[in-house]
Amino acid sequence: MAEAKHSVDIKICDVAGCDKEYERSLNIKQVAQTTLKLKSNDLRNVHLCKEHYKEFKKETKTNRELDSVY
Ligand SMILES: [Zn+2]
Repeated sequence: MAEAKHSVDIKICDVAGCDKEYERSLNIKQVAQTTLKLKSNDLRNVHLCKEHYKEFKKETKTNRELDSVY
């Protein structure tokens, strides 16, 4: 009865210094417009934890005053 405790498949947030599990997957182009610093700039998709996703949304919101159609 072997139970793997350490799953290799844990999904970790891609923001530098963050080790939380991610909740959202975003395109790097979207994240590149924000001040979030990533562990790697070589990603296509960026994974963000709840907290960083909130931050991301906050920052993109201010960039989007022109189109208010959501
Ligand atoms: Zn994070």
